[in-house]
Amino acid sequence: MQDIEFKSQRAAALIGGYWVEGDRQFAVNNPATGELVANVADLGAEETRDAIAAAETALADWRKVPAKERSRLLRRWFDLVVENTDKLARLMTLEQGKPLAESRGEVGYGASFIEFYAEEAKRIAGETLPGHGADKRILVMREPIGVVAAITPWNFPLAMITRKCAPALAAGCTVVIKPAEATPLTALALAALALEAGIPQGAINVVTAKSPVAVGEVLTTDPRVRKVSFTGSTPVGKKLLAQCASTVKKTAMELGGNAPFIVFDDADLDAAVEGAIASKYRNAGQTCVCTNRFLVQSGIYDAFVEKLAARVRELKVGNGMEEGTIIGPLINQAAVDKVSAHVSDALDKGARLVEGGEAHALGHSFYTPTVLADVTPDMAVAREETFGPLAAVFRFDQDDQAIAMANDTPFGLAAYFYARDYKRIWHVMEALEYGMVAVNEGLLSTELAPFGGIKESGLGREGSHHGLEEFTELKYVCLGGL
Ligand code: ADP
Repeated sequence: MQDIEFKSQRAAALIGGYWVEGDRQFAVNNPATGELVANVADLGAEETRDAIAAAETALADWRKVPAKERSRLLRRWFDLVVENTDKLARLMTLEQGKPLAESRGEVGYGASFIEFYAEEAKRIAGETLPGHGADKRILVMREPIGVVAAITPWNFPLAMITRKCAPALAAGCTVVIKPAEATPLTALALAALALEAGIPQGAINVVTAKSPVAVGEVLTTDPRVRKVSFTGSTPVGKKLLAQCASTVKKTAMELGGNAPFIVFDDADLDAAVEGAIASKYRNAGQTCVCTNRFLVQSGIYDAFVEKLAARVRELKVGNGMEEGTIIGPLINQAAVDKVSAHVSDALDKGARLVEGGEAHALGHSFYTPTVLADVTPDMAVAREETFGPLAAVFRFDQDDQAIAMANDTPFGLAAYFYARDYKRIWHVMEALEYGMVAVNEGLLSTELAPFGGIKESGLGREGSHHGLEEFTELKYVCLGGL
């Protein structure tokens, strides 16, 4: 069994219940210090095919395990994840950088999917429908879709895995996980706990690799894989969708966003500022539902910018391991470069720097939390997701103008707005072209709700009973001759 803290500084991948070191290794470094966390197995196409074969073999038995037993095993996995909260959180902060309190929060959030789908495993029901003749009945069975490939990002190293794997396993599917190259250790620790819980060998496999291309190619083209569930950037999602076309796989795509956060004149200003902080600066701005564009009505604009900047000034930047840190490092230098590019582009085109605006004195990939005012739609930040601690504040006068600005993007993941007038609330809620809308709230993720986007933000939903149905197929049986 692999040590889930990786004290040996060497980590193996998991294929068919065996820990596989591979011939080569790649380094995982701490983004706050640059130090080595561990060397991880660097696998390729051949090992990916082995993992798919293991998942296919395990599928034959796992799909027949009674739902109540699958539920019990998932529940045991949930208990082990919760018992190991501190170890998992420390590991996540080491490889990802987020503050320890956020890592602990993510363990709880990630575990909640295992708990929820352990319960739902017992409630996967088919139906009987009236037949189309006196001697016929229609039976609708819900069956596991088969082997699932889960390709996951580094910003939520634990929760993006449980959000896919818990419903897949609950439905009777088996999985091959390809975690992000920056954060494979949390994935491996999670899989070790699944094995310890008694989830059978081969039902959960983890293929780690420095470059995702060869592994991704196999996962998206091998006919034994029946579903690819991906969370990551829109360009990669489009590529994987195209690759999945040759074998007509089902896909779930949780892709990028360009979240608007609208503050109307009648909003509760203090609540809006708190919501803004929560939605913008969590994980240093590196979540796909992070606000990218603050759209603020003229009457409340100056007060909002001033209060937001005052709150942002208080956000403590530091190593996530240190008590009191609110903003950790970004994942790498490329992430810092993107924030810098958005800031200079906006300043060149006439935006006003209110707070921050530069790489942080701590060096590495730390960036100072930033607020820009007088941002306009011609600036890069209006169109592209910054994925960093930059709040860009736009101005509008009329409600319709805000709705048009909010919807003026190919993305449609999360949107937020603050208002009090109930007619306005209904109107705006209905007019926003987004998969998720938060009204007078800055955080919306929960295992109880369907998470997902429309337009180029993706396909499918994760969480709630909808997230379970995604891993099942309907089989219609015509019972004749009755
Ligand atoms: P980000 O820009 O946030 O790192 P990516 O979309 O690049 O997001 O990465 C999300 C996940 O997709 C990671 O696990 C990454 O390794 C994987 N990935 C990236 N490119 C490919 C690819 N060509 N094939 C398969 N997986 C890929």
